[in-house]
Amino acid sequence: MKKLSFKIITTLWITLLIAVVCGVSVTALMLISRKTADDKLRQTLVAAVQSNSDEMEFSNGIFEVENDFMYYSDGVYCDLFSEDGEYIGGETPHALINAPSDLKKVVKRTFDSKEYYVYSELLEFTKFEYEIDIRSGQVISYEADVTPVNELKPVPYSETNFQNGISTNEAIEIALAHAGIKKNEATVIGVQIPVYSDRQVFKIEFTADSSSCKKIYIRAICPSEDVKTMFTNIGKSALYILPFFVIVAAIGAYIISKKTVAPIEKITDSAHEISTGNDLSKRLETNKAPREISNLADTFNGMFERLHTSFENEKRFTSDASHELRTPLAVIKAECEYALSENADDEEKMQALESIEEQTDKMTSLVSSLLSVTRAEQGLSRFTLEEANFSELVEDVCRKFRTSKNIELITDIDNDIIINLNNTLMTQLVENLLSNADKYGKENGVINVKLYSEKDKTVLSVRDNGIGISKEDLPKIFNRFYRADASRSESEGFGLGLALVKKIAEIHSAECIAESEIDKFTEIKIIFKK
Ligand code: ATP
Ligand code: MG
Repeated sequence: MKKLSFKIITTLWITLLIAVVCGVSVTALMLISRKTADDKLRQTLVAAVQSNSDEMEFSNGIFEVENDFMYYSDGVYCDLFSEDGEYIGGETPHALINAPSDLKKVVKRTFDSKEYYVYSELLEFTKFEYEIDIRSGQVISYEADVTPVNELKPVPYSETNFQNGISTNEAIEIALAHAGIKKNEATVIGVQIPVYSDRQVFKIEFTADSSSCKKIYIRAICPSEDVKTMFTNIGKSALYILPFFVIVAAIGAYIISKKTVAPIEKITDSAHEISTGNDLSKRLETNKAPREISNLADTFNGMFERLHTSFENEKRFTSDASHELRTPLAVIKAECEYALSENADDEEKMQALESIEEQTDKMTSLVSSLLSVTRAEQGLSRFTLEEANFSELVEDVCRKFRTSKNIELITDIDNDIIINLNNTLMTQLVENLLSNADKYGKENGVINVKLYSEKDKTVLSVRDNGIGISKEDLPKIFNRFYRADASRSESEGFGLGLALVKKIAEIHSAECIAESEIDKFTEIKIIFKK
């Protein structure tokens, strides 16, 4: 199956995320709003009952509803029922008339398969107001109201006694007797003596125990459908809006992911171009890309750099190797042609054969050097290191060393230095260094070989007082096939010895350092870390 692109995957994830977030948000919002609206409706019912409670009274024994009583307001119907549950008045549709129950709590009731919220209270007319004639003690008027929620506090009054009339206490007793309330069941709130033009009265206010008072049921009712309809509408709107949001999110996510991926695509194209083209020296552009991408491009560039160097080295190596092989082959070919020609006598044929042998030896030596370098390049995958006595190995090679220029070999080798080494490779390394010191040394010169161990390293140093190496050549002598001009003219060689030394040192995790001064000395140090 074809793999999905990053753009598509990102778009899908972002869209899914936004769809889920939108869905959850809308649901949460609807639930919260529904709860709020529900609470609000319940409060409206309670408030309707409470505000209407103040609009009723029993005046001189007759139940009166004031004009401000709201039978219907804001979708809420208010009904009145007698103490026995008989319907007294209201504007509620007939089907909804139902005796009040579940006092002081909002309940849900179903009428005609519709749902309603209902709130009922039993109002007790426990607050009385009497006017008693001061002279005759006659009840002029009386009222019974619902005691307000914040109960009334009694106001102190003074006892007054009128000549040719009644006293305050007598007036209170007359009012209580008229209301049919015992003295111990009532609380006198206040007694006033207002001045009227035609008569003088005691105005007495008191509250009484509920058992002996008149009662009225008040019931508020409203359909719950309004809330439901509102939320069905919100839900429907959400259903229409949500897909729109998801489409916008998908488009947005696609544009964002496209923009995000654009630098990666650019890098991929450039990298593809570099890897399929012939020019490995090209590099990816890193300036304009964001940090992560430019880091990626830098890593690619580093990789291209190493590949480029490695390809260049390989190319040079192959061309140098073929070049070195071509010369002896050309000589062999020429000598053969001459020996086979009619002009050559026996002696000349012998000379040609000798020359051919010499060139063949040269080629054999070159091929074996090449093989050594190539093998060494395979590193530890081909060779194993074992703990061995390095001092003995160096002493052994020095003992076998034969000089061609009467050079004196002076050794200063610490005893029993043990390191992890590959015997064959390390012997080759020391032999190469000694061979160079001899080849580029002076007649009757000196070679110093030192091996010593310090705290964190072991050092092998081979120093001669020969032709030396120029500052320009010094950094290149470890390259394959590199030979300094001075040595090229004087001695034979392929320029592979030090390249091999370097590879062998790398296998042993050692470092090669060369120091030299023209016509004075050359010292090659191999430093093994402990
Ligand atoms: P090969 O070792 O392959 O037979 P070579 O000796 O020329 O040939 P390297 O051993 O790799 O090659 O040395 C590279 C070059 O470094 C030499 O050609 C020479 O110019 C220079 N060189 C190396 N050792 C010395 C030395 N001890 N004194 C002066 N020049 C040196
Ligand atoms: Mg050499």
